[in-house]
Order: sequence, then structure tokens, then C-alpha cells
Amino acid sequence: MNLILLGAPGAGKGTQAEIICDALGIPAISTGNILRDAVKHQTPLGLEAKQYMDSGDLVPDSIVINILKERIQKDDCKNGFILDGFPRTVPQAEALDQMGVVIDRVIEILVEDDVILTRLSGRRICEDCGASYHLEYNPPKQAGVCDRCGGKLIQRADDVPETIRERLHVYHEQTEPLKNYYYDSGKLIVVEGQEKVEDTSALVRKAVEA
Ligand code: AMP
Repeated sequence: MNLILLGAPGAGKGTQAEIICDALGIPAISTGNILRDAVKHQTPLGLEAKQYMDSGDLVPDSIVINILKERIQKDDCKNGFILDGFPRTVPQAEALDQMGVVIDRVIEILVEDDVILTRLSGRRICEDCGASYHLEYNPPKQAGVCDRCGGKLIQRADDVPETIRERLHVYHEQTEPLKNYYYDSGKLIVVEGQEKVEDTSALVRKAVEA
């Protein structure tokens, strides 16, 4: 099964992708994570992508399309995959079609912009394992330390309010048109993001099984 999780940054796509990944045994692919890894290791790709990411803009289509193409050719994608953060533009969706990828379902997680601003500005992530926390709603047991692996918790450079606003603007302008793209082919299911992860997860599960 090939799934796309659609939604604004901070809507909870990453968390839901991990939950589906555990339930269905197919990998969750986050282009954002792949890019952040490249930035961390200062590869040529990372050096190029960083400027766009830090300012909240999208990395050019040609770059992310190549990343995705390589990733889905790996063995673990044979039985399907969950895309988190790709496609983000209509040309990226068209590229998926051109690769011959058949998408079974597109699940949009809908969350209001002001809720996202609060969520993302308080978000802290582990620089080692990527686990996500919130200073107020999901704090780690020990401040600044990851419960899961003991790694250091940091704020993503693009999780500051001004950049979050830019990311939301980019989402509405460039990514939301994808709703029509997939609605027209009857693949889109919209799920309202809930306060509790498990409540959203129950709705997402229903959408996957629909
Ligand atoms: P994310 O972790 O999905 O919020 O992605 C973080 C950042 O990586 C985004 O703000 C973009 O700069 C970049 N990025 C991730 N995925 C894509 C994509 N499919 N197209 C363009 N840029 C992307």
C-alpha cells in the first residue's frame, strides 16, 4: 500500500507516519528527515538545501524528486511506503505519477494555523534519534534530555515563529493545491487533527482501512 500524508508542517504527519509504519510494516519516508540528515553531515546536498530550509522555503523540486526516486527504489519499499512531506508541490505529485507510483490513499491531517504555531514554537527534537517533544504538552522527564535515547533536545532552526509563519504561507500557497489534485482522483480523505495523538491516530487508521 502506498500512502501519502498531507498536512501543514506541525499537523502531526511525522508521528502518524511512524504509527502506521509500525502497524503495517512499511517504511515511513520523510524528505524533511533525509534533508536534515544531509545538513547535519554537511554533504553537498545538505549545504545546498540548508539555505531554503532555514528560511522556511521549499527545496527545489528537482532536488527532492531525485531524493525520493532513489529512496523508493530501496528494497524495504517493495510492499509499499508512507510518504510524509512529499509531494509538496503539483510538479512533485506529477513526478510521482511519471515514476509509475500508484498512490492508494492520500490522508490530509487538518489543523488550524494558530494551533500549529503553538505546537511548533514549543517543539523540541532529539538531535540523535529525532524523537519529538513539546515544552508544555509533552515535556521530557528531564529538561533538555531525550527520554528515549538520552540525546540532547534542540529547537529546529525552522521552528521559530517567523519561520513557522513562512512555512505555513508556503504550505497554503504551494502544497494545498494538491488537495484538488488528489480529490479529483477520489483518493483524498480528510481527517481532523485531534488534541491527543491517539485520537488522531484512530481516525487515520479508519482512513487507511476505508
Ligand atoms: P519537514 O520536516 O517535512 O517539515 O521539512 C522541513 C523542510 O525541508 C521544509 O520546510 C523544506 O524546506 C524541506 N522539504 C522537505 N520536504 C520537501 C519537499 N517535498 N519539497 C520541498 N522541500 C522539502
